[in-house]
Amino acid sequence: MTELETRKFKKILLARQSELEGLIRNREAATIETSADALDQIQHAVERELALETLARESNFLRETRSALHRIQTGIFGVCLDCEEDIRAKRLVAVPWAARCIACQERADRDGETPDDMIEPLLVDAA
Ligand SMILES: [Zn+2]
Repeated sequence: MTELETRKFKKILLARQSELEGLIRNREAATIETSADALDQIQHAVERELALETLARESNFLRETRSALHRIQTGIFGVCLDCEEDIRAKRLVAVPWAARCIACQERADRDGETPDDMIEPLLVDAA
């Protein structure tokens, strides 16, 4: 990757980072709002739950974005974390914070979804 390309990605990532930081700050402020009114409290509880889910998702995005920026700093941006091959430019344009090539990401996503694996041994024991 050329220095110019890296700079371009860095700009995109920095913009996304500050956007996410802003969103998260507002979200955190919203989740600590309280009300004396009981009905309001129920409404707040629902909103709070939604806000916390969104917050978790955004925090995740922020973490990905930060580690991509860190990879730029350390000079390994655009290289797959798992197989160490170059990540295709097309993928990076679509997902600048991508840490893996498509093949490795698909594998990681599959491995990351463990609920089934966690339940299975229990079922086997029961049978
Ligand atoms: Zn890979």
